[in-house]
Amino acid sequence: MNAEIIAVGSELLLGQIVNSNAQFISKNLADIGVNVFYHTVVGDNEKRLASAVQTAASRSNLLIFTGGLGPTKDDLTKETIARVFNKELVHDEDSLKYIIHYFAQTNRQMTENNKKQALIIKDATVFPNENGMAPGMAFMNDGIVCLLLPGPPSEMKPMFQKYAMPFLLTKMDVQTRLYTRVLKFFGIGESILETKLQDLIDKQTNPTIAPLASEHEVTIRLTAAHKDKEIAMKLLDGAESEIVKRTSSYFYGYAEDTLEKQAMDSLLKSNATVASAESLTGGLFGSILTDLPGSSAVFKGSIIAYSNELKQKLLNVPDSLIKEHGVVSEECAEWMANHIKILAKTDYGISFTGVAGPDQQEEKPVGTVFVGIAGPLETKVFSLKLAGTRKSIREKTVKHGFYLLNQLVKEGQ
Ligand code: ATP
Ligand code: MG
Repeated sequence: MNAEIIAVGSELLLGQIVNSNAQFISKNLADIGVNVFYHTVVGDNEKRLASAVQTAASRSNLLIFTGGLGPTKDDLTKETIARVFNKELVHDEDSLKYIIHYFAQTNRQMTENNKKQALIIKDATVFPNENGMAPGMAFMNDGIVCLLLPGPPSEMKPMFQKYAMPFLLTKMDVQTRLYTRVLKFFGIGESILETKLQDLIDKQTNPTIAPLASEHEVTIRLTAAHKDKEIAMKLLDGAESEIVKRTSSYFYGYAEDTLEKQAMDSLLKSNATVASAESLTGGLFGSILTDLPGSSAVFKGSIIAYSNELKQKLLNVPDSLIKEHGVVSEECAEWMANHIKILAKTDYGISFTGVAGPDQQEEKPVGTVFVGIAGPLETKVFSLKLAGTRKSIREKTVKHGFYLLNQLVKEGQ
C-alpha cells in the first residue's frame, strides 16, 4: 500500500497550526510497514481540494484525509470527496442519535448544520468519534482505500488507533510489521558514533540503523521488519548488542529514558539526596530535576549564586580562593559542591561554574565549565570544554551534571 496523507485546513497553510496529524499518522503507518509517499496540505477550498483528491487518487492507493468534517460551511471534505468519487452522502443513524443525545445532555441548542456531521459516504465503515461529534469513515473506490478523520488531534488520534489501524490491518495482505528500538547515547558526537559503527551502517538491511542527533544527545533508531515479532526482537537484540559492545561507555538507555530520570532513580535506589549550587546554570539543574514527579524524595534544593558577592555570602567561598583561582575554577567548583552538601545536609552536593558566553570571563574562554560533585566518600571536579551558544552550553552543562551524578551514585562514590 502506498499512502498519501491529505490535511485539509487553511489554518495549516497560514502557518497558524502545525500539521501534527500527518506526523502522527505517518509514524503509525511506518510501524505497520505502509509506505507514505506524499503529505499534502490543502486549504478549505472546494476546487483545490477536489484537484488534490484527484491527484492523490492517481498516484496512491491509500488516501487518508484529516480535517473539515465539522458542522460549518468551510468544512467541506466529505462533500467534495463524495462529488469527486461520485458517491452519495447519507445520514448515519447512530451518529445522528449520538449528536442529538449530546446536545440534549449538555443542554445546548442543536442547530440544523450539526446534522451535517452525521453525514457519511454511503456504505462506508463508520469510525465512532468518542471525543467529539463528527464520525470518521473508510470506504473503497476503484481499489483505493479512503479514510476520513476529524481535524482535532484529540479526536483523530484515539480514533486512528482504535478504529483506523485495525481497519487498515484487515486490508493489508502482507502482515510484515516494523519494530523499532531507540538507543540513547551521551557524551559522544554523532559523527564519532557514526564512525565507530560505519561498517554496520554500510551493510545494514534488517534491522536498519539510523543515527540522529537531538538536544545534545545522539540516538540510534533500529528498525526491524518481520512477520514474526519474536524474530524481529531477535534481530533488534543482535544489532543492539553489537552497537553497545563498541560504544558501551556512552550508551545510557532507551527511548523513554532521560539522564535526569536515571540520576533521580539512582538516588532513590541508594536512598540518597542531593542539593545544588548553581552559577552559570542559573537554576536549570533544579528546574529540570523538579520537573520529575517524585523528585522531592531526592532533591533538597538549590542555591543560585550568580554573582561573586552571593557566592561569598551564601556559599562562603573565600575571598582568597576567588583572588587566587577565580570563580571559574576547579577550586571554586569543589568548594561550592562541598558547601552545599554540608548546608543542605544531603548525601551529594553538585555545583556548576563556568563561562556560558558570549564573552570570556576571568580570561577563560567561553565553554570552560567545572562540575563539582561532593559525595559521601570524596569530592570530584570534572573539567569540561563545551562549544555552542550560551543556551546550549548551559543545557549541556546540566546534562553532564546528571550523567556524572548518575555514574557516581551508581558506583556508590
Ligand atoms: P471541527 O468539528 O472541530 O470543526 P474538523 O474535522 O472540521 O473539526 P477542522 O475544522 O479542519 O476539523 O480543524 C479543527 C481543528 O483541528 C483546527 O482548528 C486545529 O486545531 C486542529 N487541526 C486540524 N487539522 C490539523 C492537522 N493537520 N494537524 C494538527 N491539528 C489540526
Ligand atoms: Mg471544522
